[in-house]
Amino acid sequence: MENYKPDPVFEKLGLDNGAPFYDPVTAAAFPDHTVRYRNQRWAEKVGLGDLSEEGWVSHFGRFEPLPDNLQAPVAIRYHGHQFRSYNPDIGDGRGFLFAQLRDEQNRLLDLGTKGSGKTPYSRFGDGRLTLKGGVREVLATEMLEAQGVYTSKTFSLIETGEKLYREDEPSPARSAVLVRLSHSHVRFGAFQRLAYEKNDEAIAALVDYCIEQFYPALAGKEGEDRILSLFEKAVQHTAQLAAQWMAAGFVHGVLNTDNMNVTGESFDYGPWRFAPIADPSFTAAYFDQTGLYAFGRQAEAGAWNLAQLGGALSLLAPVEALNEALRLFSPAYEEAMSDAFFRRLGLRRAGEGDFAFVTNFLRWMTETGAPYERVFFDWFCGSASEDRASQSPAAELYAQDKFSEIRDALSSAAPDRPERLARDYFKGAKPCTMLIDEVEAIWAPIADEDDWSAFRAKLEEIGRLREALGFDASRFIP
Ligand code: AMP
Ligand code: MG
Repeated sequence: MENYKPDPVFEKLGLDNGAPFYDPVTAAAFPDHTVRYRNQRWAEKVGLGDLSEEGWVSHFGRFEPLPDNLQAPVAIRYHGHQFRSYNPDIGDGRGFLFAQLRDEQNRLLDLGTKGSGKTPYSRFGDGRLTLKGGVREVLATEMLEAQGVYTSKTFSLIETGEKLYREDEPSPARSAVLVRLSHSHVRFGAFQRLAYEKNDEAIAALVDYCIEQFYPALAGKEGEDRILSLFEKAVQHTAQLAAQWMAAGFVHGVLNTDNMNVTGESFDYGPWRFAPIADPSFTAAYFDQTGLYAFGRQAEAGAWNLAQLGGALSLLAPVEALNEALRLFSPAYEEAMSDAFFRRLGLRRAGEGDFAFVTNFLRWMTETGAPYERVFFDWFCGSASEDRASQSPAAELYAQDKFSEIRDALSSAAPDRPERLARDYFKGAKPCTMLIDEVEAIWAPIADEDDWSAFRAKLEEIGRLREALGFDASRFIP
């Protein structure tokens, strides 16, 4: 535990036994603990890599406190707009903050749970997570991290031996508890709850916490400027996140304000899906009947959520100035779309025309129904992949006239680190994808025969993708 740096700072926020930010809770006692996933790569980065299997289970299955860390877990308080209706009854209903620590770069990280038992916010729920839900969160986080999306990581998944009843899964369903590693769990909804309670003092304290821990460059700001500058950061980083989802072909599915983090980090993966093609109306959640959170509407959802965060912050800063900050969203999104698409295409940004290229590229993808991930794979590093692209099963699409303008743009852009094309990943016949049929095909043998080989094979394949792309996740840290 040489690099283990505990730093339970969230605890210090609590004024009166946690109020108004959190409530101390206890973890459920589970009948069984079988480790199904251990994120050794990230465990090492936070100094927990040398825990024995027994130690791992005692901390991430039984939630015995880590040394010098939170002595009792805390359920974080928040409200939120769910599908645009305000819900004042939510909060950490099946999770809690378990520990806080610093990584190799000294960034503060939370270890938070999902499925760890009931809390004061469980309402009608059982406080549990299904094993399938846990497996899906592992797959989403691994894939997004590899694609360079600023995302929480899944740290641990332990099967817990209970039977759960769910409407959307064959029941009884197997149970699990997941631990997530995340750059804070300060949701937009945390500010909304404090505004609902008209607790100006607590809003100011939470703003201070965010600035100190995540945006230390803003430390010198005072008064209203502190609030406004934090809001501007949230605007910028939410725009970046929406752009990164687009470039990954990812649909989060439930972009409620309680699922949005002020650090702009993507987290809480439920009914997510990757889009097979660039269909703006592609929807992930079966309960999203109007397509509110469809693929092409994620930026709009982010902006709407930011307006609610701005509303909460308007208790401490003038509305006009907050609205002005919100107007930064569109230009930030355009810039972030260019960054994200060029990066995923292995190209260097050229300049002014970049966003126009991204728009044309996406229009072509939508019109032709080109397989999403395949196009990024075939054209990685632009001109350096011309030969590879001509051998692709999608080559016919690339031979059409309507592709010529895009081909020209791809060819004239400078490849970024083209040596990455020498990796085995790019010599393979197809890109690593995570479409819904593949997710189901990974789950089926686990459900039928407790066979985890397809799951493990997929994680190895994603590892090859991650290493081939070589994106530096730390670039996205605030
Ligand atoms: P989500 O849509 O997963 O972000 O969850 C929305 C709210 O419902 C959060 O407050 C969760 O803690 C709560 N919740 C979801 N599932 C359960 C469950 N099985 N038991 C208790 N609370 C839950
Ligand atoms: Mg949530």
